Amino acid sequence: MARIYNFSAGPSTFPEPVLEQASRELPDWHAKGLSVLEMTHRGQDFVAIAQKAEADLRELLQIPVHYKVLFLQGGATTQFAAVPLNLLGSRGKAAYIHTGIWSEKAIREAEKYGEVDVVASSEAENFTVIPDLSGLKLDERTAYLHYTANETIGGLEFPFIPEAHGIPLVTDASSNILSRALDVNRFGLIYAGAQKNLGPAGITVVIVREDLLGKARPETPTILDYSIQAKHESMLNTPPTYSWYLLGLVLEWLKQQGGIAAIEARNIRKAQKLYDFIDASPFYISPIDPRYRSRMNVPFRLVNSTFEKTFIEEARSAGLINLEGHRSVGGLRASIYNAQPEAAVDALIAFLKSFEGRHVA
Ligand SMILES: *Cc1c(COP(=O)(O)O)cnc(C)c1O
Repeated sequence: MARIYNFSAGPSTFPEPVLEQASRELPDWHAKGLSVLEMTHRGQDFVAIAQKAEADLRELLQIPVHYKVLFLQGGATTQFAAVPLNLLGSRGKAAYIHTGIWSEKAIREAEKYGEVDVVASSEAENFTVIPDLSGLKLDERTAYLHYTANETIGGLEFPFIPEAHGIPLVTDASSNILSRALDVNRFGLIYAGAQKNLGPAGITVVIVREDLLGKARPETPTILDYSIQAKHESMLNTPPTYSWYLLGLVLEWLKQQGGIAAIEARNIRKAQKLYDFIDASPFYISPIDPRYRSRMNVPFRLVNSTFEKTFIEEARSAGLINLEGHRSVGGLRASIYNAQPEAAVDALIAFLKSFEGRHVA
């Protein structure tokens, strides 16, 4: 396969062995004479695929037995609504930490269903830091505390788990789940759209502590009610079967890589060498405070931003694509999730060097 290096923020680069396996298995899965695409979700073959994915996710993240794992549709964006609908309960109020565009979207959606306290924000610092949480004040009516573990657009990542002072902690881990160790016990709920670190678009993982189930508002759409989904093992209606299968293959690949400890070590190395290069160069800038830089999404700028267009064009010719920053912020961004090979980062650094050499004044 002649593959290019794809730095897309999502959907993003897949592990190559998974693509090869999926392509081998596409027309005829395990000599059953049919494709996963054609299987009924109620049949034993698909149920086995689904259960294996859940078991592997539980193993990788060491998810305790008193947590349910749901495989849902609608992306993380749907969870922006499902979380308040299921968790606000009679308390009616939620606390959110504001660190950038994705937390902002979560806040705007939650405001439709209840009171939202933005208890900490780094807006004044243009989202280049994680706000100071030492004096966090949570009203006694607060049902949960929400934060965005990694701001995919801004490139800002929590290097720690915030203290939730006894209330359920909820995180949007869409863009860094399985990229680093995570103590699930600290959380009431974790959600993640799959298309960054887990696999294909179209499937969303929700990990929820059992005692939080059964409190959804009466008007909650059935499909968004976690307790109903849990009761039906995420098969209340037809689930995204092929995405679920691919997610399972990605989890198997991750286990073969040595699990989270091994992938985290590789992710640290990949991110470090890229930031080190950017910091050492007078030609490129990383806007984020080094303490809170994302290991998954590396936004950067050219000191002379007039070169940006040429940069994108020349990068594409060199086989490096999707280095544009998000359309809302501009600049440049390299997404280097779990499946991004270290060779891609090396190729990017070599390109940065040569581009600088050719365009430096
Ligand atoms: C991509 C992303 C989302 C949105 O995911 P969809 O699946 O498109 O709804 C939400 N939060 C974060 C942190 C993301 O990276």
